[in-house]
Amino acid sequence: MRSVFLHSHEVAKFDFGPGHPYKPERATKTYELCRRYGVMDRPWMKTMVPKPIDPGLLTLFQDERYLDLLREASTGKVTLDMLGHGIGSEDNPILPGIYEWSLMTAGATYMGMSIVAEGEADVVFNPLGGFHHARRDYAEGFCYVNDVAIAITDAMKRGLKVAFIDIDAHHCNGVQDAFYEEDRALVVSLHETGEALYPGTGKVDEIGIGRGTGYNINIPLAEGTDDEVYIYAFQEVVPPIVRAFEPNVIVAEIGADTLRSDPLTDLMLTNNAYQEVVKTIKGFSQPLLALGGGGYDIYRTARCWVLAWAILNEVEPQDEFAGTVGGMMFGPEMEVSTLYDVPRPATGQVKERAFAKARESVEFIQSRVFPLHGIEG
Ligand SMILES: [Zn+2]
Repeated sequence: MRSVFLHSHEVAKFDFGPGHPYKPERATKTYELCRRYGVMDRPWMKTMVPKPIDPGLLTLFQDERYLDLLREASTGKVTLDMLGHGIGSEDNPILPGIYEWSLMTAGATYMGMSIVAEGEADVVFNPLGGFHHARRDYAEGFCYVNDVAIAITDAMKRGLKVAFIDIDAHHCNGVQDAFYEEDRALVVSLHETGEALYPGTGKVDEIGIGRGTGYNINIPLAEGTDDEVYIYAFQEVVPPIVRAFEPNVIVAEIGADTLRSDPLTDLMLTNNAYQEVVKTIKGFSQPLLALGGGGYDIYRTARCWVLAWAILNEVEPQDEFAGTVGGMMFGPEMEVSTLYDVPRPATGQVKERAFAKARESVEFIQSRVFPLHGIEG
């Protein structure tokens, strides 16, 4: 096995502002925790500093006029036209350097795809990737440039079939739209239902159109969904559909905003379900590009990504500080004094509602979409 962790301290230093939930520093936290837990120094692992994407490649997905606006916004200029394209909203503020930063994050994902597509590594992780909400000509949901759509389009141009598995708590509206009529890209998303949560899309009956019919899978879940409900929904749907599709490459968006502690969502997972799902994705035994995505409880997100990196590399984290009296931890570091969450199942009505919603989503896909792939119900 060969694996690559893409990381740049410089890129992770980019700041969306004190009030903004998106914190790129999570990537550095993850990198440091991986080192502390001894999962970054194996002979088959390589840390690589990402390179900016060639600006000409952004148009694999993005609109040229939109890119002009983003480049102008990056110099601090503000125009009404920008607002019409989502640049300058509360979620997507005008930030000096945002265009150049986007070149770096899209560059990392593009580089990751090149590495797995060319067989230079089996697993690549880009924690600062997965901007799945960005539209062709519209910035939204903290996303300006859709690195996922660019990398998948690139893979398809190489003649590869790509399965995109998105376990971030939000629906991947930008990626769904990009490949809605496409049968060479399978898009599978588990997310909190859009009834109350951004972006509002991702209903179970959004299954693609034309030759893309059956290649877009949404599994909306109710607030309060816990480990058991989530694992049930994932295992019932994702392994059969991915196996039937027979991808050449898997792209996984492993956002950690499904955790019960996440301030932006209402799913109630612990990192036990998160680990099981990542293990299943790893078990597909295909070249794998993993992208960070969301996660707004930054320390617990970093923990999830350390666990994911360990699983993808089939190694066990070892805490070099375990057993030290008094410990080395203080402040928020206390939260990462162990990597593993205590299981916290939901109960009562919350659990019943969550199970009912999951069952409804699963049964719809099994009855309407599985037959399109020749999967026996
Ligand atoms: Zn999210």
